[in-house]
Amino acid sequence: MSEQAHNKLTTASGRIYVENENTKTVGPRGPVLLEDYILHEKMAHFNRERIPERVVHAKGSGAFGTFTITNDITQYSKAKVFNKLGKKTKVLLRFSTVGGERGSADTERDPRGFAIKFYTEDGNWDLVGNNTPVFFVKDPKKFGDFIHTQKRDPYTNLKSPTMMWDFWSLNPESLHQVLILMSDRGTPVGYRHMHGFGSHTFSLINAKNEKFFVKFHFKTAQGIKNFTDSEAAAMKSKDMDFSQRDLLEAIESGDFPKWNMKIQVMTEAEARTVTFNPFDLTKVWPHSDFPLIDVGTLELNQNPDNYFAEIEQSAFAPAHVVDGIGYSPDKMLQGRLLSYPDAHRYRLGGNYEQIPVNRCPFAVNNYQRDGQMRVDGNGGRLPNYFPNSFDEIKIDESYREPSEQLESTIADWYDRNSKIGGNDHYSQPRALFREVMTKEEQDNTISNVIGAMSGISGPKRDLIVNRQLCHWFRMDEDFGRRVAAGLGVNVDAVMENMNALR
Ligand code: NDP
Repeated sequence: MSEQAHNKLTTASGRIYVENENTKTVGPRGPVLLEDYILHEKMAHFNRERIPERVVHAKGSGAFGTFTITNDITQYSKAKVFNKLGKKTKVLLRFSTVGGERGSADTERDPRGFAIKFYTEDGNWDLVGNNTPVFFVKDPKKFGDFIHTQKRDPYTNLKSPTMMWDFWSLNPESLHQVLILMSDRGTPVGYRHMHGFGSHTFSLINAKNEKFFVKFHFKTAQGIKNFTDSEAAAMKSKDMDFSQRDLLEAIESGDFPKWNMKIQVMTEAEARTVTFNPFDLTKVWPHSDFPLIDVGTLELNQNPDNYFAEIEQSAFAPAHVVDGIGYSPDKMLQGRLLSYPDAHRYRLGGNYEQIPVNRCPFAVNNYQRDGQMRVDGNGGRLPNYFPNSFDEIKIDESYREPSEQLESTIADWYDRNSKIGGNDHYSQPRALFREVMTKEEQDNTISNVIGAMSGISGPKRDLIVNRQLCHWFRMDEDFGRRVAAGLGVNVDAVMENMNALR
């Protein structure tokens, strides 16, 4: 508080005033006077309270916490966040559902966002992932189309299982993520009982400038806990904000949720020879070939004081990496490098990184100036151009990124040379269904698929159902037969259809 601070009611410009509840009128029962500026200010500001909600991940919850290093991975990365055992870094973690609006229910069947901001001394590192290791599409050009199918139908203004299954059945690459979504992990019990994944392949660079590819995993220390489909539906009618309440109350009571961060590492040589495309976001890296390596523990221990200021205004971008962490040729990552900051500039404005929750608490030195809502002093008297002869801002060559060797001789649209890579959309979901899921999980997943596909309607119903059934059959015949039976579909006719489509 400054010397002039006081505790009297004021306008936004600081004028002290008295009448906060009674508007000035011509006599006790007369019309309102235009000069009651307090009335205008209150109403005008109220009218401007809403900012555009996020196009995806609109409904979310978040908290601050601490990331602590428990294992030395400096052989892979020189990032300062990893540079010492016991090192602690402040973090913000925002969870979310994906398809719903800001007021939608927390227990919808949907992936969950898992976006972390690490406030490191070398800048803010944002790891903007989900609670699933894969995604529905592997090319960013499909992203907007896909999301449209998760939102409302342009005519009915209703969510539409027909749109969703039409898109999924026309994009078999989505099968892996659809299977996970349809398992009980599609309805986690709040945000504390699910894993998090960086999802994309990123790279790590060590002090010798050697590069490794990496996947980030965050394993819940609370244990996996899921709602069944009916439990999720029941919770939706009981408490739309279940996950928000669960997270807030756990932290308030001192029961701080934790995740163990682990990485999978792949050398550049391995990336050239593995039998799948390691940059395809619809694929995982098998644990048996790329074992999990411990890194640290992430604990959430502080609720935000103000939801709008610190969670609604928080902005995460996969482009925000730091020295020692880099990108990869994952097409979806490359697309998100551009689109996330673009979305924030639209939603929060060009100076969104000055909003306190987004601001790097360490040094920010650059020549960006002006723009709407510039609130950080705008560089004061310092030069607004580079290079110059006046300020002390220097280039530090030790931060130079190593150059990259590319093997492609020509730009291409897709991975034609994939081994099992590009077009095998079935092996990994099959492994999940057959080798990982328990009998109960298998049964629940099939029942959830039948429930979800029962919503397909309209003149193209049979086409869409049959097309999707073909994908389930290719993944696992018994799965396909059981879904078909649940939907009342004649399997023999489907098999004929499948043969015709081959
Ligand atoms: P592993 O047996 O080593 O690991 C299986 C993984 O599947 C575990 O991480 C497990 O999580 C997770 N899992 C269990 N049930 C589900 C579910 N319903 N939805 C999503 N994940 C689930 O197998 P592999 O590494 O060889 O992979 C086999 C299959 O497992 C993959 O094709 C993929 O579908 C799935 N998977 C693989 C991951 C990976 O990074 N390799 C990550 C997640 C899933 P938990 O820690 O709770 O045991």
